[in-house]
Amino acid sequence: MSLSYLTSEYIIERNRERCIDCQVCVRQCANKAHRFDEEEQRVVSDDEKCVNCHRCVVLCPTKALCIRRNPLEFRENANWTPGAIRDIYKQSETGRILLTGMGNDRPYPIYWDHILLNASQVTNPSIDPLREPMELKTYLGRKPEKLKVENGRLAEKLPPQIELKIPVMFSAMSFGSISINACKAMAMAASELGIMFNTGEGGFHKDLQKFGKNAIVQVASGRFGVDTDYLNTGAAIEIKIGQGAKPGIGGHLPGEKVGEEVSATRMIPLGTDAISPAPHHDIYSIEDLRQLIYSLKEATNYEKPVSVKVAAVHNAAAICSGIARAGADIIAIDGFRGGTGAAPVRIRDHVGIPVEMALAAVDTRLREEGIRNQVSLVCAGSVRNSADIMKAVALGADAVYIASSALIAMGCHMCQKCYTGKCNWGIATQDPYLVKRLNPEIAAKRLVNLLNAWAHEMKEILGGMGINAIESLRGNRLMLRGIGLNDRELKILGIKAAGE
Ligand code: SF4
Ligand code: SF4
Repeated sequence: MSLSYLTSEYIIERNRERCIDCQVCVRQCANKAHRFDEEEQRVVSDDEKCVNCHRCVVLCPTKALCIRRNPLEFRENANWTPGAIRDIYKQSETGRILLTGMGNDRPYPIYWDHILLNASQVTNPSIDPLREPMELKTYLGRKPEKLKVENGRLAEKLPPQIELKIPVMFSAMSFGSISINACKAMAMAASELGIMFNTGEGGFHKDLQKFGKNAIVQVASGRFGVDTDYLNTGAAIEIKIGQGAKPGIGGHLPGEKVGEEVSATRMIPLGTDAISPAPHHDIYSIEDLRQLIYSLKEATNYEKPVSVKVAAVHNAAAICSGIARAGADIIAIDGFRGGTGAAPVRIRDHVGIPVEMALAAVDTRLREEGIRNQVSLVCAGSVRNSADIMKAVALGADAVYIASSALIAMGCHMCQKCYTGKCNWGIATQDPYLVKRLNPEIAAKRLVNLLNAWAHEMKEILGGMGINAIESLRGNRLMLRGIGLNDRELKILGIKAAGE
């Protein structure tokens, strides 16, 4: 194919008055969008190679660079948008599935932004978190229906729990899809904050194992790196059935990315493709899932809670009811805005449902069936700030998973090119030169700062409602009101409209 019909999406503007031709941008751009022109003796740029990751803009010492969207416009057409036309050009040139990274960016309703939180006025006075104790600690795992107490002591062993100092965890991101330095940063931050990180499906890198008591180890369809030592090194185990960004499909890490460390961690031969099948080949029913849950409990002497992660899909409530009955201690529901290192664009953008709806439907169903306390619910899929967390908890979540927010805190600029392996921020890459750009200590500090800031905000919001413990907010939908929602949406969310 000789001629591409695609034009550059971005334009690199270099302010010649400011540029000192120091070549920082040349070294920083893994896409080679900048180069030093020997003839002209100055730095020049190639717009077509730019993916708008902002690395050069942020690091340019004289702030000489600006990246703009190419103003080239197709004739206005509400149906044939520029994106739809570009995708056809791309596919007719390559014959390939279009890939993308990060979460669904289509303009579907974001229900978090249609839900408002309550605050106390006059009665049930608000609590000042600077003066009064305020508890954000929570425990994930099966809760007993009653406590048996003898002589003032618990007479029975409680089911295994994981303790979270704040109701937030780092969601599954595997070594292989992200760099070891990004993994280290989340492990260090989780340890400092008293929360959990999740290994993802890529095994447990040897350098991370010292953080085992803050780790959830994942068992996915590829079973990469899974053996009894792996299962026993973590604080909890998670069976990954689905991922919000790509429900119903598996994963594929190309052989060229399976270097020595990825190969050792995943326990697969060097240079082979790491294929995660779409289904678990031993799970075709809830009964099969139950067998796996109990095999994992057996392998860890019933000392670790077992979580099951599912993508939010149409019949999430019935599926999660089955998972609770199958013996899971925790269910993580991953909404369709959840991030990914690589997913087909059409799947990411058109499959699944918003986590707000799925979470509310699951919590309602488990309550109606009287089995809500048998599992903890974790809400995942684009939790962006402390207000989203409070809304998720009031809708029924015990805790949330964050991933994109954590990556953004570490430097991600949402260019959505994670699948290329050329992340200029050292996050979604295995290139040793790029990986070194992410200092794990600095990234961990940024994560700790972010979550400490969110914890302060959560206490303020809780205090404003007159509630002094996060667990008292869980499922308390009276603290929520909907705005701009129709009756059906309000009914599914189980909340009243603003003003009611
Ligand atoms: S890809 Fe990133 S680093 Fe390269 S030119 Fe574009 S914004 Fe700058
Ligand atoms: S992780 Fe890196 S490649 Fe992925 S969206 Fe963020 S900046 Fe871009």
